[in-house]
Amino acid sequence: MDDNEIKNENDVITPDIILMSRAKQELERIISKPIDENQYKEILNSINVYLHKNCNHTIITDHIDIDYETSRNIRYCVHCELTFD
Ligand SMILES: [Zn+2]
Repeated sequence: MDDNEIKNENDVITPDIILMSRAKQELERIISKPIDENQYKEILNSINVYLHKNCNHTIITDHIDIDYETSRNIRYCVHCELTFD
């Protein structure tokens, strides 16, 4: 048995998480005026719930500059890119 073969399960990210995360970013970026806003929000919400539940989150803290004088820390998952308060 080689100890190096043992992988940390938390590092596993499955293709569905990658795709969902990508879809969410694309949807948020591309569609500014959806035909059916409620349905659109529902779809985004479903993706968020899915990511929240199924991603093995690896949360990091990042520093964001809002303007010259204001900045704040955000915490987000490097896999699904959901933000956490
Ligand atoms: Zn995550």
